[in-house]
Amino acid sequence: MIQFNNIRISLDRKEANSDLDFVSHAHSDHVAAVKSSKGVLASPQTMQLIEETHSITIQNKAENENLKMVEAGHMLGSKQLYVDDLAMGMRITYTGDFQTAKSRTAKSIEIVDTDVLIMDSTYPEPSVDFGNKHDVETAIQDWTTMMLKQGIVVFSTYAMGKAQELIALLNEVGIRPVVNSNISRASRVYVKNGVNLDYTSAYDDNSDYEEVIRDNFVGVTTNRNLSTLKSELEKVHKKKVNTAVTTGFAKRFRFNTDAQFPLSDHADFKQSIEYIEATKTKRVLTYGPNAITFAENLKKEGCNAAPFSNEAIYALQTC
Ligand SMILES: [Zn+2]
Repeated sequence: MIQFNNIRISLDRKEANSDLDFVSHAHSDHVAAVKSSKGVLASPQTMQLIEETHSITIQNKAENENLKMVEAGHMLGSKQLYVDDLAMGMRITYTGDFQTAKSRTAKSIEIVDTDVLIMDSTYPEPSVDFGNKHDVETAIQDWTTMMLKQGIVVFSTYAMGKAQELIALLNEVGIRPVVNSNISRASRVYVKNGVNLDYTSAYDDNSDYEEVIRDNFVGVTTNRNLSTLKSELEKVHKKKVNTAVTTGFAKRFRFNTDAQFPLSDHADFKQSIEYIEATKTKRVLTYGPNAITFAENLKKEGCNAAPFSNEAIYALQTC
């Protein structure tokens, strides 16, 4: 939680005594505060995605002129929070989940000069290097095109962000995938916000999915149990089925699929360092479950870093 003009602002967490809850984006691990919030600060797209995918209406939409939301590049509607605390003479930026590489379905990250950078720590290890994103994207397109000649292809991925990025990638090589209900609901919000996505789903009105699945097809699902799904589909369709996952964690773990692609919507360690330098920050406070490891690794790179705490914001020392 940070404090600004006597307003206590929670950052993507449910905090008992917050006055305002900043929700950086609509991924489920960031929306805990929404249901019982006194006031939610989030982009209109984030609100729409939460309302659509959680079947709730957010009652307390709070805007505040003194708090600025800037693009985070992570997914549709994802924002960083920028606070210019004139009384304390300090600019504070909270990144939320962020991505510095270009995305097909999210606006590019905005870089603002800051004094304190509260930074997401999803990938805290220097060993995680996503490499050239374009190469990963081309590998996905080439592999899918090749496997589609042999039969059915099924991807498992997250319903929001990654699924839409995958649909856009497939559309580029002329593939119109079949998606499950969670992905369909989230994609509807993307389309409503001007993102071009071409897909079909059994859960949409006037769907032509039955026609599409008569031929070889690409499915995009949130189902994690791809080995069971693979044998079921092989039985029903009497075709070879190839499975894959698209996640940054493909750099860390081996998945039980035919292929795995490290398509990430986060910055890796090297990109995080570049981002820190671009903001000209004096201090980095690492945030999230890997905060301690991330701070230690940043310190080894010469950064003035520490795990986030309220006190740490004001214990400002320059590098
Ligand atoms: Zn996220």
